[in-house]
Amino acid sequence: MHVQKFTFNPFQENTYVLHADGEGMLIDPGCSNQNEERELEHWLRDHGIRPVRVLLTHAHVDHVMGCAWAKKRYGLSPELHAKDLPVLEHAAASAAMFGVACASPPAPARFIEEGEVIPLGDEHLDVLFVPGHAPGHIAFYNPKRHFILSGDVLFQRSIGRTDLPGGDMDTLLESIRTQLYALGDEVVVYCGHGPETTIGEERRGNPFVRG
Ligand SMILES: [Zn+2]
Ligand SMILES: [Zn+2]
Repeated sequence: MHVQKFTFNPFQENTYVLHADGEGMLIDPGCSNQNEERELEHWLRDHGIRPVRVLLTHAHVDHVMGCAWAKKRYGLSPELHAKDLPVLEHAAASAAMFGVACASPPAPARFIEEGEVIPLGDEHLDVLFVPGHAPGHIAFYNPKRHFILSGDVLFQRSIGRTDLPGGDMDTLLESIRTQLYALGDEVVVYCGHGPETTIGEERRGNPFVRG
């Protein structure tokens, strides 16, 4: 399983493609205009990758701006945790509040549950439930290659904001300590914004998570 990262939209959100054996999963598609849509589409085409699923770590507007496009272009509706459905349904209105345009995302294909196993090629992702930044926030962990897509829970030397609806600081810190820090120090963290980090680097140096 390989990881390809793109950075899209006015929020500088990281969109990821996980792929194996010519099949790809789009994680948090944030492409917000024709140039960004083309960049992603051409990359997929040039690498011979057929998108098969759209998965969301959570449904904040910066992570769902490309969902309408993915539906139109590839016929794929997003999959997310049920507790983030209200966030998804509010995405277009929320975009307007931030002064950006976002086509209404399509209704979800299905809901993802904590502990679910998501296969791709001959590997799989484990679904961790990590609320606090958003009520239905999940993370996708590849136990074979020791990496996790953490969305907006944990960043390099930072953590997700908790002032949006459904956010809660104690819950977020609990998610980081009990779910993410429980993984090994060597685990690479692909974040929803900014550069990659590792669990060990954050355990030692993240100023927001103590104890
Ligand atoms: Zn977010
Ligand atoms: Zn974000």
